[in-house]
Amino acid sequence: MQDRSDRMRREGKTIAFVPTMGYLHEGHLSLMREGCKRGEDLVVSIFVNPAQFGPGEDLETYPRDFERDCELSQKEGADAIFAPDASEVYDPQFQTYVQLEKLPNHLCGISRPVFFRGVATVVAKLFNIVNPHMAIFGEKDYQQLLVIRQMVRDLNFDIEIVGAPIFRETDGLAMSSRNSYLTPEERISARSLHQSLKKAQALLQSGVTDAAELIRAATEVITSHPEAVIDYVTVSDPDTLDDVDTFDRSALMALAVKIGKTRLIDNMIMEPPNI
Ligand code: AMP
Repeated sequence: MQDRSDRMRREGKTIAFVPTMGYLHEGHLSLMREGCKRGEDLVVSIFVNPAQFGPGEDLETYPRDFERDCELSQKEGADAIFAPDASEVYDPQFQTYVQLEKLPNHLCGISRPVFFRGVATVVAKLFNIVNPHMAIFGEKDYQQLLVIRQMVRDLNFDIEIVGAPIFRETDGLAMSSRNSYLTPEERISARSLHQSLKKAQALLQSGVTDAAELIRAATEVITSHPEAVIDYVTVSDPDTLDDVDTFDRSALMALAVKIGKTRLIDNMIMEPPNI
């Protein structure tokens, strides 16, 4: 992979990179389209990264369909697919991790303590292996995007990080490989994530700027579905992820909800009304 990237760079090509865990959906494909627009060479990685899964999480059952992923990536214009084996990425002697000090102490980092260490580590490794000029990440994983941007600044990676908007099903559910776990009944309840964000946004537009009140309203939408168990619903500063009490400027409403056994996340940046 490194040799190939060296060759592409010598040929003067701009390398765009889309890292994924595979089981591709339209959300992933929208990142690839963005990569094709911005780069002359598109590299897609497919790697289910053991380091970001905690004990009892779904590493073994994470959905996989390598052949379909290859077809979809190629159709979308990928020039190379990098799909290493976990044993190639993590040598038995592996012991160097990338750990951020502050950003992981919020949102998903609280219930998934090893997650961002695993993500930052594998993305740093992938950046060194693929050596891209830019990498595209989805805003669906908003905290992950902040973590990567911070890591790139802190460790001087010469890579542009591009954020791409959340791609949704027609009923609003954010696309996710994990949606495939949902039973038909759970799939209906899963709509409540986006509905709760829309409810909060409508209230905000009507003049309710108190974060606690908006969180309460969003929570009610979700808990009206008995199989939905909330991990968090927060209103945060979009850069630091610190809690925000009032919408006196734009803020991030983010949530994580377990529907049955499936943990789903969603978020929306919300602007206060112009009063
Ligand atoms: P994953 O395979 O879930 O690790 O995701 C790989 C990349 O795709 C990450 O940058 C995600 O943020 C992005 N992604 C996943 N789902 C979506 C979506 N619904 N819309 C936009 N980007 C997404």
